[in-house]
Amino acid sequence: MNMLTTRKTFLPFALPSISEDAIEEVAQVLRSGWVTSGPKVKQFEMEFADFVGSPNAIAVNSATAGLHLALEAIGLTENDAVITSSITFTATTEVVCYFHAEPVLTDVDPINNLLTPELLQTTIDTRCVWDGKNLKTKSTGKQVKAVMPVHLAGHTCDMEGIQKIAKKYKLIIIEDAAHAFPAVHKNKMIGTWGDYTVFSFYATKGITTGEGGMITTANAASADRMRKMRLHGINRDAFNRPGWYYEVVDAGYKYNMTDIQAALGVVQLKESHAFWERRTEIAKHYNEEFKNLKGLILPKDDVNGQHSWHLYRVELDTKLAKMGRDSFVEELKDRNIGTSLHFIPIFEHPYYKKTFGFNRAEYPNACKMYDRAVSLPLFAGMTKTDEKDVIDAVKDLLG
Ligand SMILES: *Cc1c(COP(=O)(O)O)cnc(C)c1O
Repeated sequence: MNMLTTRKTFLPFALPSISEDAIEEVAQVLRSGWVTSGPKVKQFEMEFADFVGSPNAIAVNSATAGLHLALEAIGLTENDAVITSSITFTATTEVVCYFHAEPVLTDVDPINNLLTPELLQTTIDTRCVWDGKNLKTKSTGKQVKAVMPVHLAGHTCDMEGIQKIAKKYKLIIIEDAAHAFPAVHKNKMIGTWGDYTVFSFYATKGITTGEGGMITTANAASADRMRKMRLHGINRDAFNRPGWYYEVVDAGYKYNMTDIQAALGVVQLKESHAFWERRTEIAKHYNEEFKNLKGLILPKDDVNGQHSWHLYRVELDTKLAKMGRDSFVEELKDRNIGTSLHFIPIFEHPYYKKTFGFNRAEYPNACKMYDRAVSLPLFAGMTKTDEKDVIDAVKDLLG
């Protein structure tokens, strides 16, 4: 090991950036005595809706809860299926399973590892039956109701292409935008494309509230439904009446965001552009520094919009690099550089294998990615030294 390139402390692949302003805003909420959902949540929702340009934003306690509420709002049942990407976090598919519905997985494109219109069409052609009115899965006869594109790493999916197919087969689009804040696709922000868009404010995401999420939708009736269902199914109109009276109109969930989280969110939202600029700068530096390294395949810029640069995912061409991905990860760890993998394909996990019997031979690109991908450290709080340490370590290994 080259000791010159070894850091003294471990650099995680992601860390949140919490400013003194954010800490002060949270402290004010704590001092105010109102610590659960209240005025700060309302403010965060309004400012977030404004930021992405959506008429409705519904704050929840995670993106997982948001995806669940969106599927609830479209009335998903056990007789339904949802098409999504095989390269995503389990949150995207687990919410489908909450309804005992079936996740249908697409392969991903070999470059950006996204669900593309072509792959969506192929999945429909090979795994579904269209009778001119209904789209059903061939194997189980379940009705395909929705498609969930995942803007992996913050590179946007081809939304116009996906919309065209969704329209033809009457599919509702629910975007998993956990990585896509702030991201733009063809001059419109992510948050205004699909029928529903779900963002995550988990600790490592583009902005954070510790844990948290946001759903945006142009559908006012659904927005109303999700607002009720995130808080016990309580009818808000009744709830807002003076006195003790309220009405429960369904068996809802406990998915509300707190004012403590929202206070952090309000300040993070203000800082989000600066965070994004810094991440973009680091990604650019990586691209420049790594472009001549043998066997390292670099992430592509988003030619259709603005990449959020949530992640910097590279692939290792193990023959050219003369090193496997796993040893690359180990060597980086020895140099105190953290990495992560986004993601283990859904079909590789024991639960999904056992429950749905996925056949990995149907996902050649996802399998190839799984053998070769790794995410390098990328977050707004990285110092110049952190950045240089990553660059030196990678060059030391592959240069
Ligand atoms: C983080 C993540 C989620 C879940 O977000 P939570 O806010 O933690 O529930 C969903 N999908 C993807 C792709 C993610 O990376």
